[in-house]
Amino acid sequence: MSTSAAAGATPVMDRLISRTVLRHQPLSVHFDLTYRCNERCVHCYLDHEDHGELTTAECLAVMKELASAGTLFLTFSGGEIFLRPDLYEILAEARRLHFDLSLKTNALLVTEERAARLREYGVRRVQISVYSDIPEVHDAITKVPGSLQRTLAAIPLLLEQGLQVKLACPLMRENLLAYRGVMALAEKLGVPYVLDLTITPMMDGNEAPLAHRIPVSSLLPVMQDPTLHACKPQPTAEATRARQEFPAAIGSAVSSGIENAAYEDLPCSAGHNSCYISPYGDVFPCVQLPQAAGNLRRERFSDIWYHAPQLERLRGIRESQLPVCSRCEIRSYCERCPGLALMEGGDLLGAYERACELAEQKAQLAGVVTPISALHREQAAFAMQTNSRNEIASFVANSSSD
Ligand code: SF4
Ligand code: SF4
Repeated sequence: MSTSAAAGATPVMDRLISRTVLRHQPLSVHFDLTYRCNERCVHCYLDHEDHGELTTAECLAVMKELASAGTLFLTFSGGEIFLRPDLYEILAEARRLHFDLSLKTNALLVTEERAARLREYGVRRVQISVYSDIPEVHDAITKVPGSLQRTLAAIPLLLEQGLQVKLACPLMRENLLAYRGVMALAEKLGVPYVLDLTITPMMDGNEAPLAHRIPVSSLLPVMQDPTLHACKPQPTAEATRARQEFPAAIGSAVSSGIENAAYEDLPCSAGHNSCYISPYGDVFPCVQLPQAAGNLRRERFSDIWYHAPQLERLRGIRESQLPVCSRCEIRSYCERCPGLALMEGGDLLGAYERACELAEQKAQLAGVVTPISALHREQAAFAMQTNSRNEIASFVANSSSD
């Protein structure tokens, strides 16, 4: 999604989303075919060892179940999908089942012949990770010398086949200043892009990738960049308007970014009309929400999707009932993710530091005077109470020793 090509939902898409949220139909599924990868990106959250990936037959069976459950949008990702020797077999079945197909890849292994086969198998969109237009910066992140050159060489091959290509640029300390180069590159290629601020802990909870995360204070230049339609000071701006005015090209790599009334009061689409499947057959509400609801080697997809207690619980959550966030004055500036709330704050229903800090920064840019999140307000109140209790305790202690 770029400032020039932000994808707005069409009326048909609007109806589809409303209907699928209402019926809990898994409209959109993100299926990682492997965690193996031919790059070693410094911020990556995956364990690249193969711990028993689904076989070809198992992948085909999963897709049949998804089709029966009403999935339309299917995204294959990894790891690097081209490391699966059976990729074309899987794509052929996906085409036979009439999914709307997207791929995520680093494109290192894309050749003219492979690009043509993707088209033959009905792939519509390909999202490619590009960290910078400067080889030294990109290659230092992927830890593969020459990777930017190879990735960029693949893009015209895919475009020539009529595939829609989008650049995805996760922003981290190492490439913060390179984002303009990626924007210029996208413009030159005539493709959209998305800048993504999300750096998450590893799937096992290891927080090493967080060292690459950009401190919120250093994000100011990006947030204020007029080329990203940064929010202008508008103290009276309404919440929805403020949201619309934020950089359209900054978002999450995994969320659709599509606004729809059906999502109102829901934390997000996860578990309502979208989910994630790992290479080992585990079903999660989202790639960023590490609560496995079941495994496709042991259970049918429909049994997991309609009956897993984790998903039923998730579907019952309403933003207006969140213990802290429902009382937050700057909630409309916040892009709280329940998955990150769980991973970083330990509570699916809770607030977490990073979301609060980003929301405060955005609200401040929008002209809201001394924005303070509900979490920070409550932390401050708690600290004051503790201080005054300590003062009373020390006063009592001093008085009794007199
Ligand atoms: S869990 Fe987070 S990343 Fe996943 S869909 Fe919800 S908001 Fe987006
Ligand atoms: S800013 Fe913090 S407290 Fe407010 S809604 Fe977001 S996560 Fe919750």
